[in-house]
Amino acid sequence: MTGNSFLDAAVQAPAELLEILAHFESLAYLVAALLFILALAGLSRQKTAQRGNNFGIAGMALALVAVILVTVASDNSGAVLAVLLMVAALAIGAVLGVRKARSVQMTEMPQLVAMLHSFVGAAAVLVAFGSFLTAPGQATAGAENTFHMAETGLAVFIGAVTLTGSVIAYLKLAAKISGKPLTLPYRNMLNLAMVIASLALIVWFTTSEGVAAGIVPLVILTIVSLVLGLHLVMAIGGGDMPVVISMLNSYSGWAAAMVGLTLGNDLLIITGALVGSSGAYLSWIMCQGMNRSFVSVILGGYGTDSQPSTQGGEAIQLEHTETSPENVASLLKNAKSVVITPGYGMAVAQAQFPVADLTRKLIDAGVDVKFGIHPVAGRMPGHMNVLLAEAKVPYDAVYEMDEINDDFGDVDVVLVIGANDTVNPSAATEPSSPIAGMPVLHVWEAGKVIVSKRKMGSTGYSGVDNPLFYNENTDMLLGDAKESVEAIIAAL
Ligand code: NDP
Repeated sequence: MTGNSFLDAAVQAPAELLEILAHFESLAYLVAALLFILALAGLSRQKTAQRGNNFGIAGMALALVAVILVTVASDNSGAVLAVLLMVAALAIGAVLGVRKARSVQMTEMPQLVAMLHSFVGAAAVLVAFGSFLTAPGQATAGAENTFHMAETGLAVFIGAVTLTGSVIAYLKLAAKISGKPLTLPYRNMLNLAMVIASLALIVWFTTSEGVAAGIVPLVILTIVSLVLGLHLVMAIGGGDMPVVISMLNSYSGWAAAMVGLTLGNDLLIITGALVGSSGAYLSWIMCQGMNRSFVSVILGGYGTDSQPSTQGGEAIQLEHTETSPENVASLLKNAKSVVITPGYGMAVAQAQFPVADLTRKLIDAGVDVKFGIHPVAGRMPGHMNVLLAEAKVPYDAVYEMDEINDDFGDVDVVLVIGANDTVNPSAATEPSSPIAGMPVLHVWEAGKVIVSKRKMGSTGYSGVDNPLFYNENTDMLLGDAKESVEAIIAAL
C-alpha cells in the first residue's frame, strides 16, 4: 500500500483500460524490439550510424514508457510507489549518464564501456535475487518451475561473472591496476573447477524448495561466480582487454536475456540475445583483425602493460628519410590519388579535424582522396570511423581495409597518420614476427608513403619495430600529428 488512499484510488484503473494497456505493452515491446534491430543495422555503417542511434533511443524510450504505463494501470497497491521509484532512478541515471557522456575523452571510451557492462551484470544478479525472493518457484510446479529456477541460477552466474570481470577490465584499462596478466599456477584448472562448481550449484538451487533452502546455493553460486569473473579477467593481459570488453558485452547480453526469461519479459529476451550475439561476433572480428584466437584470449596469460616485445630483442638500426610539411604539401597537391590511413596516433593527437580540413582542400583541388581503415586501428572497434565522422569527413571517402587493400599499387601518395602496427609489412612478410599473420594495410605498395609520428625508435601497440619507416619510398614527417597536418595545410 502507498498509505495514500487518494493515490491508490487514482490508480485503480477500469478493467477495459487494463486490457487496452496489456495489448499496448505487447505492441510496444514488439515495436521496441524492431527499433533495436534497426538500430544495430544502422550502426553497422558510418553513414547510417546516427539514424541507428536514434532508433535505439526511440526503442528504449518506448520500452520505458510501456513499463511505466503498465505499472501505473496495474491493480498492484504499490504501483504508485514503484513508478515514483522508477522515475527517480531514471532521473538520477540520466543526470549521471549525460554528465559522463559530456566529459569522457574518446581515448577513455573503452574503460567507460567496461564500467557500464558491470552495471548490467549487477542488475542481472539483483533482479534474479529479487525475482527469487519475491516469487520463489513462481508458485508453479514441475518442469516450468525447474526452468524458472535454472534461468534464475544462470542469470546470477553470468551476471556475477560479468560484474567482477568488467570491474577488473575497467581498472586495467584505466591503469588503476597493472595490466600484467595474473598467471596463478593451474589457473585454467582453477577456472574449470569454478565453472563445474557453479553448474553443480545451479542444479542444487534448481532442485531446492522454498526460499530458505534455495538461498544457500544461490549465495554460494554468487560468490563463486564473482571470484570466477575476477580471476578470469585478471589472467588476461592489458593488450587483450578491448577483446575482453566486447566479450563481456556479449556476456552482459546473455545475462539480460536470462533475466528476461526469469521475468517472462519478451523485450528483455530479444534485446539480451541481440547484445549477446552481436558482442560475440564483434569479439570474433577483433580476434581476426589481431590474428589471435578467441580461446587463447579467454585462457589469458598473453600481453603485459608495458611494450610486450621488440622484434628480435632490439630496434632495427636502419637509415630513414625525413621530410617537411612543405614537401608533403607539394607532393599531395601534385598527386592524382591520395589514401590516408589513420591510427591510434591520430586519436591521441586529436588530429581528425585538421585531417578533415586537409581532405576537403585536396578534394577541392581535384585530388582523389580516400581513407583506408584497418578493423583494429586505434584502441577500440570503429575508433577511426567515430573520429572521422566527428570531423565530418565525407562517408563515401572512407573505405574498410578489405575494400581498398588491392588498390594501393595505383595510389600516388599514402599519408599514414599515427598508425604503426596496422601498416607494418613484417606482419605479411616475416613469419617470425610477433604480429605475423595479422592482416595489414598494404601501404608500401603505393608510389610514395609519408608517415606522421612523433619520433623514431618508438613502437606501436604491439611493441614491434616497423620496416616500413626505412623503405626507399617512405619519408618520415616527425612531430605531433595535429601540428604536422596543420603545417601541411598552411603550406598548401
Ligand atoms: P599503433 O598503436 O600501432 O601505433 C600508434 C602510432 O601512433 C605510433 O607509431 C606512435 O608513434 C604514433 N603516435 C602516438 N601519438 C602520436 C601523436 N601525438 N602524433 C603523431 N603520432 C603519434 O596504432 P595502430 O592504430 O596502427 O594499431 C592499433 C594497435 O592496437 C594494433 O596493434 C591493434 O591490434 C591494437 N588494438 C586495437 C584494438 C581496437 O579495437 N582497435 C583493441 C586492442 C588492441 P610515436 O610514439 O613515435 O608518436
